[in-house]
Amino acid sequence: MRHTTKQPRANRTITIDFQNEATYLQLLGDRKAFLECVLAFLLSIGFQLAHKATCRGGGCLTRHSHYVRVRLGGLTIWRLQCTTCHAVFTVLPHFVLRYRSMRPEVARNALLATHGGLSLERCAVIGHISPMALYRLICAFGHQSLVVVLTRCGLPLPIYILADEKHSRCLTAKVYLPTIASGRVLWHLGYTEDASAAAFTQSYQAFQRAALDQEPAYRVRGVLIDGFDSTTNSMRTLFPGARLGFCLRHALLKLPKKLVAISSPVRQSLRTKFHALLSRVRQRKSLRVFALGQRLRHFVDHVTATAGPANGARVRRWFQDKKTGWYAVLEDPQMPATSTLLDQAHNALERKLFMMKGFHHPQGSQQAFLTGLAHLYNLVPYQRRAQHAGQCGVEVEGGTVPTRDWFLNVQILTSGGFR
Ligand SMILES: [Zn+2]
Repeated sequence: MRHTTKQPRANRTITIDFQNEATYLQLLGDRKAFLECVLAFLLSIGFQLAHKATCRGGGCLTRHSHYVRVRLGGLTIWRLQCTTCHAVFTVLPHFVLRYRSMRPEVARNALLATHGGLSLERCAVIGHISPMALYRLICAFGHQSLVVVLTRCGLPLPIYILADEKHSRCLTAKVYLPTIASGRVLWHLGYTEDASAAAFTQSYQAFQRAALDQEPAYRVRGVLIDGFDSTTNSMRTLFPGARLGFCLRHALLKLPKKLVAISSPVRQSLRTKFHALLSRVRQRKSLRVFALGQRLRHFVDHVTATAGPANGARVRRWFQDKKTGWYAVLEDPQMPATSTLLDQAHNALERKLFMMKGFHHPQGSQQAFLTGLAHLYNLVPYQRRAQHAGQCGVEVEGGTVPTRDWFLNVQILTSGGFR
């Protein structure tokens, strides 16, 4: 089963907002005005064109550019060429999707429904398109990497990350989606059929490569994980100097499972105590590791006294196993303490993947499809009653998007013609 991202061809398509179709058609007859409109839009979004590596002809097209007109499905499309490096840029007006006859408003509604968790089949009904057309559209956006799109939005590469795998199924096989999040954006959403450290390393390495491409000196300072061996090992391999912390919320959820054969009020009261212990230590300004060590020892004594020596011993062994990861979280005040935001992202993706036959298509490109879904996750604004109403994840994290139209943003940011 093919699941690697196809190498994108040297795609220099740029999407330009001409406001409305009539304006575009009018500009087609006036090459000077057309070029001015393109340049003005590029200036407004602050993007530079991707010339060939050897080009020193400045970041933008000059008036000396050549023009070629080609026809796509009855519509005239301009191509602009750099006179220095001869790179050719295809100028797509905002109302045309690359290689697709689907109208943007149809695509927009279907994608929004997809993002909301409606199955591909149902989403396709909304716009009278085929589920496969919608699947391919998401894959097309997914050929641009998350790192490229997020840095285009001005987000710095994440110094502290959350890393975890979503377990899913592809037909009958178990598959894993190695994920890297920072705050409310996904920086990596991979796909592997194997739960080994080698497979996870290979997937997470795609993120590392893309990040180093952007910034050769990029280093991760801290990673929060849930303690799964393959994840731990792959993070040690890729980010050798990084602090590896274990999620404190997972610790809280795990505790009741360590307490066997006791009444549920006793179990509940121990959980409450453990919760108070962790949050009090987190509130401290100094000596947090020392405080945690001391409190964990007292807590084990308390478990032994109230739930018996067998439970006490089990909790002690568990603490021995995990405390280094918890210390790592407390040692650095900038380390994220819980992986809640990553869990939320995984839950949102679960709703989509569960019903999507397209995901299980034998000829499908799972990696591109997942990356496409991740772009939607990062760029679709939250609904109007949400905490961050009207903003998308990228904006919540301090990034900027080129326009106020999320779908146009997806088109512009995933296009290949920008540096
Ligand atoms: Zn050039």
